[in-house]
Amino acid sequence: MRTLKTLGSLTALVVLGSILTLAAGQQVPTFTPEQEARLQIREVMDGLYIIPGFDGGQSGGNVAVRVTDDGVIIVDNKFPYSFDFITEQVRKVTDQPIKYVLNTHHHDDHSGSNADFLPTAEVIAHKNARANIVRNNQPGAPRVIFADETAVFLGGVEVQMFHFGRGHTNGDAVAYFPDLRVVHTGDLFVYGQRLNGSTLSPFWDFGNGGSVLEWPATLTRLLALDFDTVIPGHGSIMTKADVRTFRGKLETVIDRVRAEIAAGTTRDDIASRVDTSDLDWPLAPGRIRNVFDELTGAP
Ligand SMILES: [Zn+2]
Repeated sequence: MRTLKTLGSLTALVVLGSILTLAAGQQVPTFTPEQEARLQIREVMDGLYIIPGFDGGQSGGNVAVRVTDDGVIIVDNKFPYSFDFITEQVRKVTDQPIKYVLNTHHHDDHSGSNADFLPTAEVIAHKNARANIVRNNQPGAPRVIFADETAVFLGGVEVQMFHFGRGHTNGDAVAYFPDLRVVHTGDLFVYGQRLNGSTLSPFWDFGNGGSVLEWPATLTRLLALDFDTVIPGHGSIMTKADVRTFRGKLETVIDRVRAEIAAGTTRDDIASRVDTSDLDWPLAPGRIRNVFDELTGAP
């Protein structure tokens, strides 16, 4: 109720929207005190913070928070029930309002609370991410889209957004903080463990235009940016070298499936014939069959 008093009736409507969303079936997870502590906002470097996220089911994606003297720019916004949590976390480090929300892609563990931010902030996404939001009947379609690149200028700070091609989906955007030499990759790059300790691995979302075959080239374009520090879609803060390693592992998976196809392995057998355990990437059989399908041009 404190939020309602301090921010007024517009927020009351937003909060009501959140409650209705919850009523529609969204469950707010409960965390242990140890997990709760890991999810608190923390400083990455002067002017840049992260609200950590470790998985798509419980804690959502990483939220980057860029603080300026004229307002705040955030990248991603977790789940449909995350608006209050995110605004409370941001309030711990600044009194400035959140003015821009950049979406790395449409999945609702990254863009889930768009609808709650839209009355008070501008939400920006790649045009294909917006189309995915609309087609999947997700709330909170952005008012502003871009094709190849765009930028936000606020309080003397520039944040750039790039679409480098297909990968996780067909609408992936990378947010780039040039003055800090930091990127937020969305799910084009994920690394580490989920909150439950299981290992993260990439997901090529074919239902939303993703491509495992085009993903390495997309990362090559990302790697051409001048940066040192990487905020992945999920997981701990990483380095540019880690993105190169991730790209190499993607190429290895593709090469192994391609070699099996050349040797005559069928779609039914492909998942049992391609071993990725040495990559520390648990890939479900369906994901290996996806690679087979893309390589063989299956529908
Ligand atoms: Zn995703």
